[in-house]
Amino acid sequence: THSLAHLNVDNSYARLPPDFYTELSPRPLTDPRLLHVNAEVAAMLGLNEAALRSPEFLEVVSGQRPLPGGKTLAAVYSGHQFGVWAGQLGDGRAHLLGEVITPNGPLELQLKGSGRTPYSRMGDGRAVLRSSVREYLAGEAMAGLGIPTTRALALVVSDDPVYRETVETAAIVTRVSPSFVRFGSFEHWAGNPQNLRTLAEYVLERHFPDLLESHGGEPPTFENAVLRLLREVTRRTAALIADWQTVGFCHGVMNTDNMSILGLTIDYGPYGFIDRFQANHVCNHSDTHGRYAWNVQPAVAHWNLYRLGGVFLGLELSEESLRDALSGYERDFLIAYHGNLCRKLGLHQWEEGDDDLIDAWWRLLHGQRADFTLAFRHLAATPHDPAPFLGLFADPEPARDWLARYHARLQADPRSEPERREAMLRANPLYVLRNHLAQGAIDAAQHGDAGEIETLLSVLRDPYTERPGYERYAEAAPEWAERLEVSCSS
Ligand code: AMP
Ligand code: MG
Ligand code: MG
Repeated sequence: THSLAHLNVDNSYARLPPDFYTELSPRPLTDPRLLHVNAEVAAMLGLNEAALRSPEFLEVVSGQRPLPGGKTLAAVYSGHQFGVWAGQLGDGRAHLLGEVITPNGPLELQLKGSGRTPYSRMGDGRAVLRSSVREYLAGEAMAGLGIPTTRALALVVSDDPVYRETVETAAIVTRVSPSFVRFGSFEHWAGNPQNLRTLAEYVLERHFPDLLESHGGEPPTFENAVLRLLREVTRRTAALIADWQTVGFCHGVMNTDNMSILGLTIDYGPYGFIDRFQANHVCNHSDTHGRYAWNVQPAVAHWNLYRLGGVFLGLELSEESLRDALSGYERDFLIAYHGNLCRKLGLHQWEEGDDDLIDAWWRLLHGQRADFTLAFRHLAATPHDPAPFLGLFADPEPARDWLARYHARLQADPRSEPERREAMLRANPLYVLRNHLAQGAIDAAQHGDAGEIETLLSVLRDPYTERPGYERYAEAAPEWAERLEVSCSS
């Protein structure tokens, strides 16, 4: 019997009408090897050691055979790419295998890099090892930071060549998420009210069942549920972007097809955690106009939400009611952003005047291109030992001035100094997935060595706890890291 046969597998997406997807088999890699399995995600799925070591597991995560009980399919969606309507896109190199029913709800398994589909357009259906390692690590790094994200279960490698700027090798990542539905999945049906309604009902019933119930005297109509869905997606997206901003995460390709309807970080490509801070930092080498720079991510997300909201005009929801649902974004974002900053700065609550303090903070970091992660991390010690913090600045004078202001502000805080310091160390990671660290794991992986992936994962799963012997993972980026280029084609 199949060693994965004990999994409780369902296929809710495959029960949608046939024009939502194409059922098809992946195109397996030649001589695939399991480079790494993520024990944490395996445990979430109820996969034990024996199952993970079985030949069937490798066959499933390399696309050679279906998940037992699963229906393999590629989903269609559309989207706005770099601000322009791109029309039909879809899973061009991904295959949904089905969903595993777990005690915490269903989790979908999806292969990425598993070959061409009807939605591949000019693409080859493949993903290179480099970008697959980056995606594999990123989900765990975000999860370790407590930021909503898709996860990854397994990384399979092969010697099959993939042609990008140079010749690289192919890999497949098995991604795991309650859903891979995107804003673009809705945009795809903008002109088809029947399918749009079907998709909205599917997402509501499956992921937001409480929104279908009667609320505060409002009748439980479908139209009201859709408005509440839009309101909830707005809230989740705002909170997600606030999280990104306050860890210095740049997504790189915030197209509407890369925006999760569940408010998860999804589709890791040319993302980056900022090393030396620059407010207009652009991590995607292909983004020549800086459309997705760090300091515009909050506005881009709002723009993307408007694209999602506009779709529901097709369900005869009034423009006014849709605008109303979207209008909470700014307030949602500021509440989440201020909350995050309070925790990071050790402030009891956001006060009048804190805007100026934060403004001065970003200016200080930007002006001297100080390290984003370490600047926050070293703040906690400054009341008794400002040296590590000041050491991050070529010219410590403006940093000293800002600290004086900040310490004066802390006087209004009710907590004791050690109490605050402890809380701040739980809010400011020491370890983040810096590009050069990912690159180290990629270099080793290219030689078949997953050791660096394992080490990085162990550090990133608990990024707040300083660990002796791991100093290298906490250091600011070396000079050469600035020359690492990540782009859309991967
Ligand atoms: P992205 O912006 O990377 O999320 O991808 C945008 C669209 O291009 C999606 O529909 C992807 O499935 C598709 N795509 C990206 N890379 C490839 C590839 N190598 N082969 C086929 N489709 C791809
Ligand atoms: Mg079909
Ligand atoms: Mg994508």
